[in-house]
Amino acid sequence: MDSDQKALRLARSCVLEIKPYEPGKPIEEVKRELGISDVVKMASNENPLGPSPKAIEAVARAVAQMHVYPDGSCYELRKALSAKLSVPGEWIVFGCGSDETIRMIAEAFVEPGDEVVFGAHTFSQYEFVTRVTGGKCVSVPMPSARLDLDAVKHAITPRTKLVFVANPNNPTGLMISRSQLTGFITTVPDHVVVVVDEAYFEYVESADYPDSINEYVKSGLNVVALRTFSKMYGLAGLRVGYGVARPDLVAVIERVRPPFNVTSLTQVAALAALEDTDHVRRSREVNAAGKRLLYSRLDAMGAEYLPTEANFLLVNANRPSREVSNQLLRMGVIVRPADIFGLDGWLRVTIGTPEQNERFLAAFAACLAR
Ligand SMILES: *Cc1c(COP(=O)(O)O)cnc(C)c1O
Repeated sequence: MDSDQKALRLARSCVLEIKPYEPGKPIEEVKRELGISDVVKMASNENPLGPSPKAIEAVARAVAQMHVYPDGSCYELRKALSAKLSVPGEWIVFGCGSDETIRMIAEAFVEPGDEVVFGAHTFSQYEFVTRVTGGKCVSVPMPSARLDLDAVKHAITPRTKLVFVANPNNPTGLMISRSQLTGFITTVPDHVVVVVDEAYFEYVESADYPDSINEYVKSGLNVVALRTFSKMYGLAGLRVGYGVARPDLVAVIERVRPPFNVTSLTQVAALAALEDTDHVRRSREVNAAGKRLLYSRLDAMGAEYLPTEANFLLVNANRPSREVSNQLLRMGVIVRPADIFGLDGWLRVTIGTPEQNERFLAAFAACLAR
C-alpha cells in the first residue's frame, strides 16, 4: 500500500467526498506554462482597478507593527461598519474572507447528518463546508440557470439547518428580486437559518434588489447576510469578509471563530477601503460601462449571455467550456470555464478595464471563428 492510500484510510469519511477546489489560474502560472508574457486575468472577479490607494498607504503605515497580534475584535473596522450599516457592533462577525465566514456558519450550526440546501449552480464553498461538517448536501436543480425559491422551500425538511442563497448568484450573475426573496424568507420555518451571500452587493444596479441587512436581518429573522472586501473593495488578497445577523446568531458563530482570523494589515486596509468612496464609485462606473460594452459587442456577435448584476458575465460558448477556455488561455486571456459549476458550454468572464474587455472580445471572436 503506498503512503497516499494509508492516509486515505485515516481520513474522516466526509473528507473523502470533498472535491479539490479549482481556482482561477494565476497570471504567473499561465506565463510560465505557456511561455507567453502578455496575460490578463478575468477569472476571479477581482477589481480590475486594484485596491484603493488609501488602503495601500494604510498597509504601508502599519507594516512595522506586524510583530504584534491583531486586534481579534476588529474594533475600528467594526465601529466603522456599524455606523455605515446602522447596526450595533454585536451584529457583525468578521471572517478571513467570506469563505471563512461561510465555514464558521456551518461549523456553528450543522451537526453530522443535518441538511444544507443550495442551488445546483452556485458558489462551491457551500458544498465544501457542508461536507467538512459532515452535513448532507441538498442540491436544488436550477432550470434555465435560475434558483426557484419554491423548489428550495420544498427541499426544506425537519433536518434542514441552513439554506444558502447567493444574491446575485455566482456564476450566473442573476439576481433574486425583493418580492421573491421576501416571500421565501418570511415563510421559512424557524429551525432554519438562511444565509444570503451578497458578495456582489456593491455592483447591483437593479432597484428590485433586496438589501438583506435592512430588509431581513433588522426585522429579526433567522438570516445571516454576508458581505466581503474581496470584490468591489479590491482586497481579495488580504482576506476579509463579514456576516451581519441578530446578535444571538452572531454569538453562536463567534464561538467557532479563530481568535486572530483577520490580520492587522487587513483590518487597516479594509477600514481605508471602506472610507474611500471615490474609489468605490469609480469601480462601480468602470464595471457598469464594461458591462454595457460587453453586452453590445456580444449582441453584435450573436453570442448568448445572462444579464448580470455583478462584476462578471456568464457567456455561452456553445462548445465544451474547457476547450474554449484553453484556447483563450493560449491567447493570454484567463476566464473561468463554467463546467466546474455544472454549466458546461459556458464561460464566466470577469468584467475588466476597457483594454481587458477588448482583449477578451477579440480572443473570444477568434475562438468562435475557428
Ligand atoms: C467571491 C465570492 C465570495 C467572496 O469570497 P471571499 O472569501 O470573501 O474572497 C463569497 N461568495 C460568493 C458567491 C463569491 O462569488
